[in-house]
Amino acid sequence: MIYEHKTIQINGIDIEPGSSATLNLNLYQLPTKTIIEIPVYIYRSKKPGPVLLLLAGMHGDEINGIEIVRQLISREDVRNPICGSIIAIPVINIIAFLSGTRDLPDGRDLNRCFPGKKNGSLGGRIAYDLMNKIFPQIDFGIDFHTGGAKINNFPQLRCVFNNETNLELGKKFSPTFILNSPFREKTLRNEAAKKGKSILVFEGGESSRFDYVSISEGMNGCLRLMKHLKMIELNLPKNPTILLNRSTWVRARTSGLFHTSKINGSRILKDEIIGMICDPYGEHEEKLISPTDGYILGINNQAVINQGDALMHIGIE
Ligand SMILES: [Zn+2]
Repeated sequence: MIYEHKTIQINGIDIEPGSSATLNLNLYQLPTKTIIEIPVYIYRSKKPGPVLLLLAGMHGDEINGIEIVRQLISREDVRNPICGSIIAIPVINIIAFLSGTRDLPDGRDLNRCFPGKKNGSLGGRIAYDLMNKIFPQIDFGIDFHTGGAKINNFPQLRCVFNNETNLELGKKFSPTFILNSPFREKTLRNEAAKKGKSILVFEGGESSRFDYVSISEGMNGCLRLMKHLKMIELNLPKNPTILLNRSTWVRARTSGLFHTSKINGSRILKDEIIGMICDPYGEHEEKLISPTDGYILGINNQAVINQGDALMHIGIE
C-alpha cells in the first residue's frame, strides 16, 4: 500500500513530516465558563507511511484504554516512528472522565453521537470535530474500550469480518480473540467506515479499575500492528488468534446471589454448568447452564443480581 505523505493540518496548524505537535481538538465551554481542552498528540516520521489513530476514553470511566494509550505514547519508539504518523487522543471524553462516568453530563453516550453536528450538543460537537478534523488525516485507527460497570471483558478485538482490511489489521494485532461485530448506527466505527477508514475496537477489563493483563494485551497488540506497518522495530510473540463469528449473553433466570468459578477467556461446552444463582436464605439454588460451546468473553462480577441480568458473554466460533 502506498501512503500519501502530506502535511497534516488541524485547526490551521501545519504538522510537517518529521515533526511532532500537541494541540487541542477544540475548546468546549462548560456552564461554569470553564474551558475544556481535548489534547491531541501527533508524532510524524520523515518517511512516508500510514497515519494511525490511537483513541481512548470515549466512555469516561473506561480507564484501561486511557492507560494503554498513555503507555504507548510514553515510548520513545512510538514517539519517533520509523515511517508514517501517530495521532493519539488519550482521553476524548474528558468531561465524563473528570466525573468518573461513562456518559456525558446530559446522559448522552458519545459513541452514539456520530457523525455529530458543528452546533450540536457537547457530544455532537466532539464527534463532529473528530470526524472533520482528525478522520480526514488518518488511514486506520484503534478505539480502546473497557467492559461496562461490573462486567469484566477478557481482552479482545472487535472487527467486521466481511471487511477485509478491518479483519487483516485485526489479525496483525494478534489478540487471543477477535469477535465479529457488525456496525451500529451513530457509532464512530460506523461513520469512519463510511469514509473508508478502518477502526479496530479493543475491549479489555472493567470500568473504573485497572486490569493489567488487558492493558499489556492492548499495548502489545498495538505494537505488533505498528511493527507490521513498519512503524517500529520490535518483535513480540504472537497469540494464536481465535475468530469468533458471533456471541450470546447468558442471562439470569432468577434473582439472587451469583457465583461462578469459571475463568474469563476459558473454553466452555454446551450444557456445562457455568455458575449458580442462590437465594440468600439457603433454600434455593439454580444452575446456570451454557447454551452453547464457546469461549467466555465477559463475566458479570456483581454478587447480587436480578432476573434478566447479563451474566456471561460467550463468543462462538
Ligand atoms: Zn466503551
